[in-house]
Amino acid sequence: MAVNISSTISPFLLQQKPVSSYFPALQQQVYGQPLIYFDNAATTQKPKSVIDAIVRYYSTINSNVHRGVHYLSQQATEASEETRRRVARFIHARHAHEIIFTRGTTESINLVAYAYGKYALKPGDNVVISAMEHHSNIVPWQIACEDRGASLRVIPMNDRGELLIDELDHLLDERTRILAITWISNSLGTLNPIEEIIQKAHQFDIPVLIDAAQAAPHMPIDVQTIDCDFLVFSGHKMYGPTGIGILYGKEKWLEQMPPYQGGGEMIKSVRFEKTEYNDLPFKFEAGTPHIEGTVCLQAAIDFLESLPLHKAFAYEQQLLEYATQQMSQIPGLRIIGQAQHKASILSFIIENTHPYDVGVLLDKMGIAVRTGHHCTQPVMDFFGIPGTVRVSLAVYNTPSEIDRLVTCLDKAVSMLK
Ligand code: PLP
Repeated sequence: MAVNISSTISPFLLQQKPVSSYFPALQQQVYGQPLIYFDNAATTQKPKSVIDAIVRYYSTINSNVHRGVHYLSQQATEASEETRRRVARFIHARHAHEIIFTRGTTESINLVAYAYGKYALKPGDNVVISAMEHHSNIVPWQIACEDRGASLRVIPMNDRGELLIDELDHLLDERTRILAITWISNSLGTLNPIEEIIQKAHQFDIPVLIDAAQAAPHMPIDVQTIDCDFLVFSGHKMYGPTGIGILYGKEKWLEQMPPYQGGGEMIKSVRFEKTEYNDLPFKFEAGTPHIEGTVCLQAAIDFLESLPLHKAFAYEQQLLEYATQQMSQIPGLRIIGQAQHKASILSFIIENTHPYDVGVLLDKMGIAVRTGHHCTQPVMDFFGIPGTVRVSLAVYNTPSEIDRLVTCLDKAVSMLK
């Protein structure tokens, strides 16, 4: 099927300039070639507005939050709390205090696995995840299950990389305490039908955690419409700073969960006999937070909203379709992950070549891709492969970059054969 996409298309409202011109890191050359950056699922490049916000933060309001009476501290506190309100609006949370700042998706999931696990998991209970989870949505649950005498159950998938949702009818029962699942698979690109999954879980009153690490940079999120109980994502994958992540949790769960870490900020009063914990959201934010990252996440949200996200999603879908079509022409190339519904990620292997060698050769031609298991070893085991080459798309990628990738892949394959 022909895809109607031209190499000059720029669907954005950003003053008609190519989106990449807003990203200083994309203006450089590597090994004498213009950089083409296809490692966006690992981390995205940052628009100048985010970089400027970081410089502005340290040049003006840098100060510790919540503790100071002085001007700078009040400004930094207000800016951090404004981010909380912005994030709440960005994902349509009911309350700003349902937004907890963490270091990233990994810490958000660990927080829930620890604190919700301590609150809810008893011997004989079970936790349900899926066959395509990132290690950060597997290992914290394994630890929690081991600690609490619970067991882990896994929703299987087919060889197209689609979850067998009907299996939930057997996997969920009255001892299931939580279902934790990714929205978009970071190694297969599968876009999971999370609304259907959430509805099935809620029939048993089972709360659902959505790993939105790969969804937040690409599509609008409305936590009230999808009705998830927890949702987690990372700032650095959505054009924002590293070291800042989000945990959204429904107030009713967060209120009941014990703290994750102890220290300053998460307390109301401390006596040697007894400590009284702070209210939400601070109960879960012990110690000095990543203030710069928190404040500057606002600039990333501004960028995403300026696209706006639903247009970015449509554009990236076209780009993915185009890439799939073009790359399928390469002899011996096998796409890993052929789900009917996919987003932004194209993983593949090429007959008689190792993904690592392909990645190294592409790098020398100025193209950044990721190779390996992508922190999803069970997925690689399922397909019986050591790893894949992964092309992950962002809003600044273009069809002409895909064309160059195909040319360079052809070259790499002929060098390796
Ligand atoms: N979940 C998914 C689906 C991911 O793709 C990633 C990172 O690649 C993570 C979780 C972990 O994110 P972070 O390393 O930002 O904590």
